[in-house]
Amino acid sequence: MERRNPSAASQPAGKVAPVGHEPAPATKPSGAPPSASPTPRAPRPKRGVPEGLWQKCDGCQQTIYRKEAEEILNVCPKCGFHWYVSAATRIEQLCDTGTFEEWDAGLRPTDPLGFRDKKPYAERLVAEQKRTGLSDAALTGTGMIRARRVACGVTDSSFIMGSMGSVVGERLTRLIERATPQKLPLIIISASGGGARMHEGILSLMQMAKVSAALARYSQAGGLFISVLTNPTMGGVAASFASLGDLCFAEPRALIGFAGPRTIKATIRVELPKGFQTSEFLLEHGFIDRIVARKDLKSEIARAIDYCSR
Ligand SMILES: [Zn+2]
Repeated sequence: MERRNPSAASQPAGKVAPVGHEPAPATKPSGAPPSASPTPRAPRPKRGVPEGLWQKCDGCQQTIYRKEAEEILNVCPKCGFHWYVSAATRIEQLCDTGTFEEWDAGLRPTDPLGFRDKKPYAERLVAEQKRTGLSDAALTGTGMIRARRVACGVTDSSFIMGSMGSVVGERLTRLIERATPQKLPLIIISASGGGARMHEGILSLMQMAKVSAALARYSQAGGLFISVLTNPTMGGVAASFASLGDLCFAEPRALIGFAGPRTIKATIRVELPKGFQTSEFLLEHGFIDRIVARKDLKSEIARAIDYCSR
């Protein structure tokens, strides 16, 4: 069976699914069965296991004690599946403690088209900001990785699928443009189930070209760009900056691709190879350079920087 956007399962319903993806399965209600009591009463506090103590692993389908996974950087202790981590946690895992300094935090998304799907985009933004604590789907800045100064950016798949709107594109572009004269190694960790953010129309689409052009100038100036693909990296993010690394690392068993498997199948009418959008398949076919487990990521990046700067 194909894995479909496993991270989506842990996200609340009501999100826009990327093209070709099945909607995330509805989360099962936890706790007691529905009450048949005819008289309406004030809701009783839930009994049993507190929410969030256990989590079903998308890799092995087993119920895992969350704390145990958290201790090993949110990796399943049973099967090694790499779970979702937020942008802030990524930075914590990647950068030396206390060294990260955020750039362009003041950029805020707007709703230039007055777009609405199930709800107005402006309302969706506020809700997402409140829920995730992020102002948009990318966090950028500078920090140290094993005492090497880097420019680093992270996208977060929990903020409107980690899709690239104007703010994500602009933050990444500015990140790259600052890294260029400062000759900083550039690390971008992608976790984007959505590609360009449809809510901003063409303004989202143009970010792909804008970020890619900034990367081209960075490359001409001799910069080293390490792109880290995590679960999931899809759509316009995969089709632009995420694929342009001098080195492309991927986490194990990550979903990486452009359109979802059902869309491709419906378009080209060919049976697709099993697991063709996984890190392992893509490594075999030369699309990525190395699969790096989360626990090794920091060291591997530091090593690559040293190797390439000789
Ligand atoms: Zn597992």
